[in-house]
Amino acid sequence: AKEIGKNNYQIYSSLLNISSYKLYALERDLRKAIENNEFFLHFQPRVDASTGTIVSAEALLRWRHPEWGIVSPREFIPLAEENGLILEIGDWVFQQVCYFIKSWEQKKLSIIPISINISAQRFLKNDFIETVKKVLKETKINPKLIEFEITETTLIHHEEAVSSALQLLKEMGISIALDDFGTGYSSLTYLKQYPIDTIKIDRSFIRNISVFGKDEMIVKSIIFLAKGLQMKVVAEGVETNEQLSFLRQQECDEIQGYLFSKPVAEKEFQSLLNKTKLK
Ligand code: C2E
Ligand code: CA
Ligand code: CA
Ligand code: CA
Repeated sequence: AKEIGKNNYQIYSSLLNISSYKLYALERDLRKAIENNEFFLHFQPRVDASTGTIVSAEALLRWRHPEWGIVSPREFIPLAEENGLILEIGDWVFQQVCYFIKSWEQKKLSIIPISINISAQRFLKNDFIETVKKVLKETKINPKLIEFEITETTLIHHEEAVSSALQLLKEMGISIALDDFGTGYSSLTYLKQYPIDTIKIDRSFIRNISVFGKDEMIVKSIIFLAKGLQMKVVAEGVETNEQLSFLRQQECDEIQGYLFSKPVAEKEFQSLLNKTKLK
């Protein structure tokens, strides 16, 4: 499987025909990826920072391309956002997650809440809530097992539409996480304006803990802010024990990152759940 590096890719696509062909082909193939069963999900555990037990997980989309192997979501999600396929893809992901939870219930496997990334576009379509309701009804899973991750981009537009959609989701029992916190058009107003349950501190701040004092201070402040507002706070991209001990010291609630586990397939995820502690 060839990796298609994003930067190389963009450069090549403007220089070489073969790569603009690839871009064209990727987009063409993306349209058929659902019906060809080329998508699948990985799950990345989120761990309680003080106890080390897995408390939830994020569902992350993977695409197995017939010629190029695994294509990163960092490549194809922007493409799907651009051509609108993200709507259909997003619904597929949500449906998959609900059916996974249902099957874990039926097989009496461990069940924890699952977070799903929701694109701003999907959020702003007026059939979104309807679709969510329909799948929940079909699968009869507890909506408390679902968390939607949205980014600040979702919140900058259409205040009314976003507000009412979030309110409806909350009433259904679904929780809301603000993803990549600190990287977008951060406004503290969002935190008081919208019913947000969880703040996920972006990996870019975590990466430089113990390198740059400023990043430590920012992380510390976000944790303090989240606690004051009674929101759960999660650190993304935790890779080192040094980062972990800083985050523990600051009483960050949950940790997600390669230090504990990469995103893994369902089987491996279930076996991780059956170990009581990771670290
Ligand atoms: P994200 O939502 O911020 O997801 C976290 C990304 O960070 C994942 O990349 C994950 O594998 C990676 N990650 C987690 N821990 C670490 C770590 O310790 N170190 C490093 N270097 N990386 C870590 P992934 O799976 O490649 O996804 C990339 C992005 O693609 C996601 O960023 C999200 O924006 C988007 N994406 C993935 N799946 C979906 C989906 O189902 N729907 C939508 N709309 N977007 C998705
Ligand atoms: Ca996310
Ligand atoms: Ca994130
Ligand atoms: Ca991100």
